[in-house]
Amino acid sequence: MQPKFSILLIEDEENIRSFISTTLKNQNYKITVAGSGKEGLHLSASLCPDLILLDLGLPDMDGMQVIQKLREWSSIPIIVISARNHEQEKAKALDLGADDYITKPFSTVELLARIRTSLRHSTQINGQTLALPIYRHKNLIIDYDKHLVTLDGEMIHLTQIEFKLLSLLSQNSGKVLTYASIMEKIWGPYVDNNNQILRVNMANIRRKIEKNPATPEHVFTEIGIGYRMAEGD
Ligand code: CA
Repeated sequence: MQPKFSILLIEDEENIRSFISTTLKNQNYKITVAGSGKEGLHLSASLCPDLILLDLGLPDMDGMQVIQKLREWSSIPIIVISARNHEQEKAKALDLGADDYITKPFSTVELLARIRTSLRHSTQINGQTLALPIYRHKNLIIDYDKHLVTLDGEMIHLTQIEFKLLSLLSQNSGKVLTYASIMEKIWGPYVDNNNQILRVNMANIRRKIEKNPATPEHVFTEIGIGYRMAEGD
């Protein structure tokens, strides 16, 4: 069987390296490993992998620098591997152009799910099929052309901003979007970076689309980072 996709892992810790390598090989991914930022950048350019898994704590370079250098020439999806309670670091990595993050320690299931989502998004973008006319998840349907949102078949009334927000999140479903990137896309680059206006709008959206806003089914908060909408059915 041909390997599905090639993945470059940039990670200096031996135990995490072997755990990830074994897991991905078992799933028929082609995996290459780099132990430093410099080697990682070199291999990215020579191999052009389909996806990069990047540890942010590398011996020779800051992981943020690796993201910046990669993004100068490449849109290869990057998933960063970060420690718990490093929310600012994760948000910064996403704003620099990483696609997603995974928090140590993580399970095989989580790792594979994140990889599948990132690969799906990148092949959709490259294949120009991103503009789906409808998002559907459980009882929620968003029809972008008709500007319609229904929940259990009932029309939901959203303000213009709420509809824009929900469209942005659902068109990136499965991915976390940072507060800063949402603010910029909805309110423009000159909005002040206090997220109050975003929180208020998100609370209103939740009241309208979630049966129980305290245990959401559609839009999830990633504390200190941003929001992630459930992948469409
Ligand atoms: Ca490390």
